[in-house]
Amino acid sequence: MNILLLGAPGSGKGTQGLILSRALGLPKFATGDLLRNAVAAGLPLGLQAKALMDAGHLVGDDLILGIVRDELDKQGAPEGVIFDGVVRTIPQAVGLAEMLAERGARVDKVIFLDVDDAEVVARIERRRELEGRRDDDPATVATRLRNYREQTAPVLDWYEGHGGVVRIAATGSIEAIAAEILRAVEEQ
Ligand code: ADP
Repeated sequence: MNILLLGAPGSGKGTQGLILSRALGLPKFATGDLLRNAVAAGLPLGLQAKALMDAGHLVGDDLILGIVRDELDKQGAPEGVIFDGVVRTIPQAVGLAEMLAERGARVDKVIFLDVDDAEVVARIERRRELEGRRDDDPATVATRLRNYREQTAPVLDWYEGHGGVVRIAATGSIEAIAAEILRAVEEQ
């Protein structure tokens, strides 16, 4: 089962994706993590992405779809994948659908983690104190939220027209949200 997590920065995709990946025994991949690894390793891909990421902008669709293709090839034929933050524009949604179709698969469930902006800003500020991520400073967070609203929010409508979206109110305890996601995933 291929599960796609959608939501604003700070909505909990990484945290919930990890819980889901362990609960279902499926690999998870996050384009944000793969890009940060490429930056840390000094790969050409990382050099291309770094300035955009640091400024809170999305990385280009071709670069992202290239990463996704490599990752799908690397993973062979797993029972499914948890995609965390992998689709942030409509061209990426179309591209992922095509790549999965080539492999006889599709996105089986789209989970949208719904959190309001004030909560997102507070969560990211806490994370900045703990982790010191460069793109977590307030001005960059504002840019990320704007880009999210302009480019990623329309992806929800696209999926509404291509199989539907499960909306989860993603405030409250991590465990309660995880339980709700698991229920939604197990419901066929
Ligand atoms: P968040 O979900 O909080 O934005 P991530 O760690 O998932 O954080 O992503 C960090 C950055 O990596 C994004 O701000 C963006 O620059 C880049 N990125 C990650 N995934 C994508 C994607 N699918 N399309 C474009 N850019 C991406």
